[in-house]
Amino acid sequence: MGKEQDLIQRSLVVFKPDSVQRGIVGKILQRFEQVGLKIVGMKMVMPDEDHYRAHYEDIGEMITRRGEKTFQYNLAYMTTGPVIAMVLEGVEAVPLVRKIVGPTEPKSAEMGTIRGDFSHMSFGYSDAKGIGVPNLVHASGNVSEAKKEIALWFKPDELYDYSDVRAKFTR
Ligand code: GDP
Ligand code: MG
Repeated sequence: MGKEQDLIQRSLVVFKPDSVQRGIVGKILQRFEQVGLKIVGMKMVMPDEDHYRAHYEDIGEMITRRGEKTFQYNLAYMTTGPVIAMVLEGVEAVPLVRKIVGPTEPKSAEMGTIRGDFSHMSFGYSDAKGIGVPNLVHASGNVSEAKKEIALWFKPDELYDYSDVRAKFTR
């Protein structure tokens, strides 16, 4: 393998309860597929509080950054139903997926991003209401976060190496 292989990355994407319950998983997934990202793992799960604490605090340092109250709001939101977890692979896939998803606050997300096109809520409104801001998908923030998140959500034998027909032009 050449050096270019080091630039092939994997990112964790989680379709949160709002995208599942609004029935827009397909529309959102298309955005990732149409740029040439490859699905290498996918499953529906309903994780418990311990799992989300590991995901949001041990890996994402969310309580450290935003406080326990925001974590509790977010935990209530994430446990309203099952989520679909997915691992996407592609060239510098971690920042690419973040670009497609958009920033955390839907109100600030540009049109053309998933959060900008399918949601509009603000931090101010969700904090006043006492809910985690529903922003449709989780996406790994950086490469080191991605590695830890993928190990938390997927067993090694749930991830697949295969060649797809688009590889000649997309990778
Ligand atoms: P992300 O990486 O863009 O998802 O953002 P973070 O890792 O900072 O936060 C995780 C999730 O917690 C976000 O996607 C939101 O759903 C929620 N969240 C983050 N910050 C806030 C906040 O200030 N207020 C509320 N209500 N929810 C928040
Ligand atoms: Mg994050």
